[in-house]
Amino acid sequence: MQGRAEPRPAPATSGALLALVPLRVEARAVGRGASGLRVERTGAGPARAAAAAARMASLPGKAMVVAGVAGALVNDLHPGDLVVADRVVDDHGQLVTDLPSATLLASALRRAGLQARTGTIASTDSLVRGRPARDALAALGAAAVDMESAAILRHPWERPVAVVRAIADTPGRDLISLSTVSGGIAALRALRAAAPVLVAWAAATEPRRVLMAGPRSFCAGVSRAIETVERAIGRYGAPVYVRRQIVHNSHVVTELEGRGAVFVQELEEVPDGATVVFSAHGVAPSVRADAAARRITVVDATCPLVAKVHTEIRRFNERGYEVVLVGHAGHDEVEGSMGEAPAMHLVSTPEQVDALETVDGARVAYVTQTTLSPDETSSVVEALRRRYPTLIGPHAGDICYATHNRQDAVRAVAADTDLVLVVGSSNSSNAARLVEAARSAGAAAELVDDPEALDLAWLTGVGNIGLTAAASTPESVVARVVDALRGLGPVKVSERTVHTENVSFSLPPEVR
Ligand code: SF4
Repeated sequence: MQGRAEPRPAPATSGALLALVPLRVEARAVGRGASGLRVERTGAGPARAAAAAARMASLPGKAMVVAGVAGALVNDLHPGDLVVADRVVDDHGQLVTDLPSATLLASALRRAGLQARTGTIASTDSLVRGRPARDALAALGAAAVDMESAAILRHPWERPVAVVRAIADTPGRDLISLSTVSGGIAALRALRAAAPVLVAWAAATEPRRVLMAGPRSFCAGVSRAIETVERAIGRYGAPVYVRRQIVHNSHVVTELEGRGAVFVQELEEVPDGATVVFSAHGVAPSVRADAAARRITVVDATCPLVAKVHTEIRRFNERGYEVVLVGHAGHDEVEGSMGEAPAMHLVSTPEQVDALETVDGARVAYVTQTTLSPDETSSVVEALRRRYPTLIGPHAGDICYATHNRQDAVRAVAADTDLVLVVGSSNSSNAARLVEAARSAGAAAELVDDPEALDLAWLTGVGNIGLTAAASTPESVVARVVDALRGLGPVKVSERTVHTENVSFSLPPEVR
């Protein structure tokens, strides 16, 4: 916790960021860490901080940060760790303010190699010492305690604000002096190292327009697969095993794990007699045969549009055709489809078509992965037609409606934005194709699993952002990205819908 007030103002530098810090030693640490910020001392304690806030509210700076040291309230914080406040509460746990850009700032600090996390900061009227007093604040949900943030943030700041505190002391060890005790020194070092990131955060603040692509997020196959796992847990009881990620999204997987799903790579990890759900991407017939042999109860969440591709492969094979699958090696859907017929080939580029070794060039058929880009796929199919003039394929194409619609929608927003953010996990084929589609439409585009993955450098100077999400991404994660952007300044959200979807699939019979 802080020591005595330091009434003399610290030397200030001008810049985009106004940093308010209580003590001279803290001001020195922050001010020496970076240029481009103006550091002002408020003095320690709420009364001095409130008076300083009133004096300093008109100072220049497009963003304001309250920085300094703090006391930890929880055992997993250590001296030198940084807490970026997502909420500031008073002594009684009453909310003073939410700080929506905390996620972005904390992840930027971690990328800079610092130990940083978001958390609630309790801002008290008097010095907090001893374990019982800290435990009482921890019981309010606070991670750290200071004495100035609430007083400063009660003032109406007409700009984005943040609170970053470096831990100087811990529940078991009160701090005596900031500059001589190891905890204080670690905290001051962390503040100094954080300063360039605070400047980068301030540089990324500005009013923004966010244009949402419609449709985005869950398709009918993903909704069905997730509901299948939820219902299977309800019907058969936890644990319910799921072979592979039910859909390629880390947040969906974590959420279902919390409800009792156990995700496995292979069937051999599933105990005999247990219940297993097959993922939306489908499985090879050999996996079904293994499950039957081991009396494993199967609930098949394979998307009906993937199952349609499997049926096409089997029919082509029955008619004596060698089947070429256009898709990406290693993808779960491709693995499942490749098991449907004995003589199958996999290609993903026109060059790979030239290297194909087929038995009878007059009897070749093709199918495709459901989540490819139509442009990329048509160049491969054209190469196949050139090499195999009698090539046959699916009547209506295999790229699914959801993939087509989301790619059309992202192209429509990319045309009017400087940067497109695609919310999705790195193993989602659908998400990767959306990034490619946005880039091919002329926009910069980045894939983010969640707001923690946003890089402040992408956002600096960018006022028009397009936003979409892969078919496997929950809309709640998209909402979190918008919230995080709101922490960087006012955000005006609009939506451009290019297709309306009303597709739904019935659930597997086992969970209806
Ligand atoms: S992206 Fe297409 S194929 Fe994949 S689950 Fe959704 S609807 Fe089915």
